[in-house]
Amino acid sequence: MRTRSQYIERLGKMNRNLYFNGQKLDRLDELQEGAINVMGLTFDAAWDPASKDLCTATSHITGETINRFNHIHQNIEDLHKKQDMTRFMCNKVGQCIQRCMGVDAANAIHAVSYEAQKSPKAKTTYHDNWLKWLERFQTEDLVASCAQTDVKGERLKRPSEQTDPDMYVHVVEERSDGIIVRGAKVHISEASISDEILVVPNRALKKGEEAYALCFAVPSDYEGIKQVVHLHRNRKRDHFQRGIEYGYTDSYIIFDDCFVPWERVFLCGETQHGGIAALLFALFHRHSYSGCKPAMLDYVIGMGALAAEINGIEKTPHVRELLSKLIMTGELGYAAGYTASDLGKPEVYMPGMGLVPYGPGSYIPNSIYANVGRCLSGEAVFHEQEILCNIAGGMPATFPYEKDLTHPDTKHLLEKYLNRNPKIPIEEQIKFWMNFIDFGLSGSTGSMQYGAYHGGGSPIMEQIAITSQYDLEAKKDIVRAIAGMTPRLKNK
Ligand SMILES: Cc1cc2nc3c(=O)[nH]c(=O)nc-3n(C[C@H](O)[C@H](O)[C@H](O)COP(=O)(O)OP(=O)(O)OC[C@H]3O[C@@H](n4cnc5c(N)ncnc54)[C@H](O)[C@@H]3O)c2cc1C
Repeated sequence: MRTRSQYIERLGKMNRNLYFNGQKLDRLDELQEGAINVMGLTFDAAWDPASKDLCTATSHITGETINRFNHIHQNIEDLHKKQDMTRFMCNKVGQCIQRCMGVDAANAIHAVSYEAQKSPKAKTTYHDNWLKWLERFQTEDLVASCAQTDVKGERLKRPSEQTDPDMYVHVVEERSDGIIVRGAKVHISEASISDEILVVPNRALKKGEEAYALCFAVPSDYEGIKQVVHLHRNRKRDHFQRGIEYGYTDSYIIFDDCFVPWERVFLCGETQHGGIAALLFALFHRHSYSGCKPAMLDYVIGMGALAAEINGIEKTPHVRELLSKLIMTGELGYAAGYTASDLGKPEVYMPGMGLVPYGPGSYIPNSIYANVGRCLSGEAVFHEQEILCNIAGGMPATFPYEKDLTHPDTKHLLEKYLNRNPKIPIEEQIKFWMNFIDFGLSGSTGSMQYGAYHGGGSPIMEQIAITSQYDLEAKKDIVRAIAGMTPRLKNK
């Protein structure tokens, strides 16, 4: 396992293929510091005796102790621990811990490459290639991001129907030594601070769409790709220091006729498995949300409760009702994820067939509960901001700037007029509201909200997964029986 400083040292040696606001960006640029600091926590936690058990695992391929963010889930306990690790780690930053995309994509490709290698038309030894990549990923303790979301062009058209065929990442040429890939993946979190990028398809595919059924890996600084980066960071502070400096990055990753050698290709042309790869990454990622969304709610609940305490309104009925709504969403999201872990199996849902064994025996969370938890908590994020706004009042929107809070002419006057609770030192109150603003009223707030709402798939995608996989006929049977209607003919 690596340490935080070994991770950062490697980033410092990478090629410059990041573009930000018209300039090429070094990976260790100050603008990326907050994001690197968050990722660094995932290394610290694996070494910390207090969290080592939760944040490490035993590799099923080498038997070595590895970071749990690089582990392939071997049993139900692994699924529980991934969910709990995610909540635990996100509680350290109040937001995303950034490393789950890699573990979720790795678990999806592990199963898909295994099944696809059995195909008589397999273009290469997908699973053997994968196992070599995975061993390096685990042994070198690498960080991977997952590039699933295509630009998608005309929304109602399939990949093969698009006016411009490059709207979904696809193979444009097969060579003896590898493939040439074209297209762009967008909103790819932490790609600018990861070591590797795992690419998976975005949707179900049909015959004729073989070129889009692709899973592969490239180094994040690969010469064949350009990353156009969007950075999210907090306003610098001089006096009122934060407990942790955090930030985030998302990239447009452009594959401009990028060569990928066969040994880095894990699927190429098998449309059915391509669709399953899309579904499985989304499923593993929605399961991760059942850890991170409850953690974000832990943070929001704490913020709502502290705002109420500072405002002296914590015992009022409307505050109790608002806080209870937050608690219910967070804990129901967690409970759904817990159940998804507990019902996990090495099986995948196939339309018309139900759950069927899939992959080499690694564990996959239950799809209905993972989707229910993600949808329930994802849809709630804007309402959570509304609750915080309700409890806080208008003050955060016009809060004085730091230099006015410390200027000798205004410091004491502002401290007098900002004070809402004589039992809490004014310096503490100021720090609280500045943090509240970072979370709910800063330049990065909107992006974080959009990520929490759409990341892992928009709510409509979860609703489609739930309704297409749920046994609605069994529910109709209940009504038929109670209403005295004619029973359904089974197998119909
Ligand atoms: C901050 C952030 C971080 C992210 N990180 C990652 C990441 O690390 N990796 C990754 O792969 N992705 C990532 N995503 C992408 C995320 O998964 C997508 O935003 C999500 O899947 C929705 O896709 P979209 O943004 O293209 O929305 P759109 O598809 O543009 O959706 C817009 C609207 O159109 C509707 N719509 C779209 N297509 C159809 C259709 N065929 N029929 C009917 N309605 C339709 C949608 O339901 C929605 O209402 C991230 C997103 C954000 C915002």
